[in-house]
Amino acid sequence: MRRRRHIMVDLVPRIRLNQGSEIPQLGFGVFLVDPARTQAVVEDALETGYRHLDTATGYDNEAEVGAAIRASGVPREEIFVTTKLRNDHHKSGDVNGAFHRSLDALGTGYVDLYLIHWPMPANDKFVSAWRQFEGFLADGTARAIGVSNFSIPHLERLAQETDVTPALNQVELHPRFAQRELRTYMDAHGIRAEAWGPLGQGRFALDEFAPIVDAATAHGKSPAQVILRWHIQNGTIAIPKGASKAHMVENLEIFDFELTAAELSAIDGLDTGVRLAADPDDIN
Ligand code: NAD
Repeated sequence: MRRRRHIMVDLVPRIRLNQGSEIPQLGFGVFLVDPARTQAVVEDALETGYRHLDTATGYDNEAEVGAAIRASGVPREEIFVTTKLRNDHHKSGDVNGAFHRSLDALGTGYVDLYLIHWPMPANDKFVSAWRQFEGFLADGTARAIGVSNFSIPHLERLAQETDVTPALNQVELHPRFAQRELRTYMDAHGIRAEAWGPLGQGRFALDEFAPIVDAATAHGKSPAQVILRWHIQNGTIAIPKGASKAHMVENLEIFDFELTAAELSAIDGLDTGVRLAADPDDIN
């Protein structure tokens, strides 16, 4: 187990963010992981070889993520920790208080990445929230700052009215909703794409589409592994939630095969251009 863990840790590529730090391209998300189970699940994820954890104040499990990190014995600096500003704190303007409560809950001293969870455009507060985020980056309590669920107009506002370009934008992204237009904009501005719901959150069957199933058969891999490999080869950072230990291991075993250009473009052909989950403009 020990040997395998180290092999897998070493295999996950790291991507350099525009603010200077590096992020492991594959992480582990803990959305809807019951707080009572989170510590054990995250300890399993760290044991399996994940070194990138994605939580949020809104997931109500930051303290349990922090406890798992301390219990794991893995040095803090080897783990990339993301958390996010909850919508009600964003709305009330309590950004500084919210960030420091997250730091206290996690107990990690600093976060590797702090995200505005949703732009909440009708509230029109994301620009002032971002200015406070710039302060967290400047004082080192956040090693990188970014956004989530931002569309091009929201990113444009930040570009025009603030100083720091987001390191990344964490958005719904999977083969059925590949975010092409947004990605073209982000590529041009040095903003990395991070996929939430990278496996589609169960909103489509993983074995529903021939390009995915055919590639899985050809490489002796599962449909989930093919989808995650598609993300990796597209340069996307992906944070699947493997609810079981078997899925955790499976989702990490994607660095020993490569999809061909034809397989990648067949999977690209599954894009509908229509999101399956919430529209950011509707969350306010
Ligand atoms: P996901 O696409 O990762 O899907 C998770 C589902 O896929 C689970 O039901 C799981 O059992 C199943 N699964 C995982 N591995 C599998 C495998 N190998 N084979 C078959 N089934 C498998 O969806 P998600 O959990 O919603 O997204 C991942 C992470 O993204 C979250 O945990 C969270 O950290 C983040 N997220 C962020 C936002 C945001 O607004 N920023 C929104 C949703 C999720």
